[in-house]
Amino acid sequence: MIIVENQSSPLISGKYLIDEVKSTLKKMNKKINFVNNNSVKNKKKYLDTHSASLFWLISIGFLENKLKTNIICILKKLSSSYKNYNKICLTVSDIKFAEEIKSLFANKIVITLLTDPRNPNILKPPLIPGILFIGTSKYIEQEEHSGAAYLPEKESLAGKRIAKIFSRLYDKKDIPLFGVIGLPQKAMIEINRSCNLKCALCPVGNSQAKKLPQMNTFLFKSIIDTIAPYVWKVKLYNYGEPLLHENLPNFIKYTKDSGIEFLEISTNGILLNKDLGEKLIDTHLDYLRISIDGINQETYAKYRHGGFVDIVWENLQKFRKLRDSMGQKFPIIEVQCLATCYTENIIDELKIKAINAGSDRFRVKTFNAYMSGENKSKEGKCFLPKNKSLSRYKDYSNLKYKNKFKLQTCKWPFERLVILSDCTIVPCCYDFNGQYVLGSIYDKIENNQNDWWWTNERQKFINRINESPNSVKMCTRCPVGVPCLAVNNNKNL
Ligand code: SF4
Ligand code: SF4
Repeated sequence: MIIVENQSSPLISGKYLIDEVKSTLKKMNKKINFVNNNSVKNKKKYLDTHSASLFWLISIGFLENKLKTNIICILKKLSSSYKNYNKICLTVSDIKFAEEIKSLFANKIVITLLTDPRNPNILKPPLIPGILFIGTSKYIEQEEHSGAAYLPEKESLAGKRIAKIFSRLYDKKDIPLFGVIGLPQKAMIEINRSCNLKCALCPVGNSQAKKLPQMNTFLFKSIIDTIAPYVWKVKLYNYGEPLLHENLPNFIKYTKDSGIEFLEISTNGILLNKDLGEKLIDTHLDYLRISIDGINQETYAKYRHGGFVDIVWENLQKFRKLRDSMGQKFPIIEVQCLATCYTENIIDELKIKAINAGSDRFRVKTFNAYMSGENKSKEGKCFLPKNKSLSRYKDYSNLKYKNKFKLQTCKWPFERLVILSDCTIVPCCYDFNGQYVLGSIYDKIENNQNDWWWTNERQKFINRINESPNSVKMCTRCPVGVPCLAVNNNKNL
């Protein structure tokens, strides 16, 4: 029996795609056990007991052996790292490859067959999309549960995006017939690298990050035009303070109007005045994270050099009142606190203060002593909390990660487009100085090229981290995908 699940994932909940799969399976006289997520009343419970999306790869045409090896390698890592995951759903057009996976992973993989949306009778490569790869986000990316997957009103948009992806891909005449187009699901766009604070371990605050120009409107819009057909979630920050970009509200509006379902910014909150706040609410921003690492100035200033905590608390309060007075529920407001030796004893107090001030969520983030690279790790150690349950490290002398945080399957280069403010594409947010450049979206836009995502550099980088992760120094310092300790919302208080 082949099971087709309408995943809770925004990636596969599109009616269009499901209907295609269903009708094809019917034609093949296969039994279908179809779970329609829309009929599930308690979505959260459903999400907790069923799989949701991790990332996906779509290949056009011929599936190179190299890609198959990559996929098997990822699946192996997933199954050994996340023993409790429910299942991985692999949608594949290459029947032989599906059989191979099945034999390797027994019941852990659910196979579905995917057809060309224009011609459901075709089931063979090289004419059809090869792979839609979906894993569970439950154990891999808990933070994402606070995102689109929990916001039912976003889901219908996701369906449109699926349709958009397939129709765009197949309308294009210039799709490469060989190789793989793995399309990014999420993008992180650094629109501004400067900052009004000088936080101790931030590479911008302590000048470890090179200075880069602000992203201009033309480039920003070109990037959004390029990625909007594929990407559902955009973070308009990486390093630097996004509120310093004077076009931020226009950028948000442009992004949302382009069909991106989920847009998030992260700020130190100092510049969040009434005027800007109104504009942000008007633009339909989805998520606003404000970093506040203290109740009083003394604690706050230990890390947030140059900031004034009273201003941030006041701005938070006013912003929440403004959102309420405008009758809006978005953006969701999250207060984030770094767990350091200065904040570890006030976390409960801070949480209560944050919720009372109007935050919808409160998040404690473990401190990253490598945030500014190896050079500054000694300084970083001075911020680590005494209470090791609030830390990602088990040994402070050599900054050894706790077992659960040690290097796991890295999904960043497969699914996330990270663009620095000078348009350089890098593998992930750790690479603040573009040590491992995977391309430049500026060149691609200038030269009207569409190979901005799956470049040779990306393939080489992925091969490297698959085959010998220890050879990439940046990766050996990275506890992939486990950035926070807890996320609590009002209901939990
Ligand atoms: S506010 Fe953010 S970008 Fe600015 S210095 Fe601090 S951590 Fe870096
Ligand atoms: S540093 Fe390496 S392992 Fe960590 S997210 Fe980046 S690419 Fe992945």
